[in-house]
Amino acid sequence: MLRKLRQAVWEALVELSQSGLVTGTSGNVSGREGDLVVIKPSGVPYEKLKPGDLVVVDLQGNVVEGNLRASVDTPAHLEIYRALSDVGGVVHTHSTYATVFAVLGREIPVYTTELADLFGGPIPVSAYVPPGDKGIGIEFAGKTRPGRYRALLMRSHGVFTAGPTPGDALKAALVVEHTAKIALLAELLGRPKPLPPSEVEELHSRYMKGYGQRKG
Ligand SMILES: [Zn+2]
Repeated sequence: MLRKLRQAVWEALVELSQSGLVTGTSGNVSGREGDLVVIKPSGVPYEKLKPGDLVVVDLQGNVVEGNLRASVDTPAHLEIYRALSDVGGVVHTHSTYATVFAVLGREIPVYTTELADLFGGPIPVSAYVPPGDKGIGIEFAGKTRPGRYRALLMRSHGVFTAGPTPGDALKAALVVEHTAKIALLAELLGRPKPLPPSEVEELHSRYMKGYGQRKG
């Protein structure tokens, strides 16, 4: 069932484990097609995961296919899909630099053109919601900016990102971590200035128009 989507979620999981954004069995990826969601099983080490191990659930959380238990974060993923019909992939990590901002309850300012390009504004931070709670999805839908890439820092927890595909959600997670690292180092060395909102808008709309026609 959902062979292509399984493959896309599995490939994003492999890339996520190689990216350094996750440790142990933490973090997860899911993908949605219609009313079905393919998601990482709970507690299986990344290096042992095979596409066939992924669990298929419906939007209410009923297991449709799979022998393993779905990720403990499944209710949060499902809430994001229920609330945002344009989302086809979700990634969750505790990546180090982004989580530093999440712990402080601080948004990531737009210090770089890269962040402006993809997100068109700062990466917002949520209220505290216990891990696994569907309230994470409610916060996500309410606080992220509509667009191809969405990201939310979860207070005292980590990061959720989303996009039209699992690969887009992964790209969002990588860029959020990279820009969080730059922001933290820049603030250590000096007083970086966020880009003016008008310039952020300009960069974002230009990037979105040219999406897929240029590299980088
Ligand atoms: Zn988590």
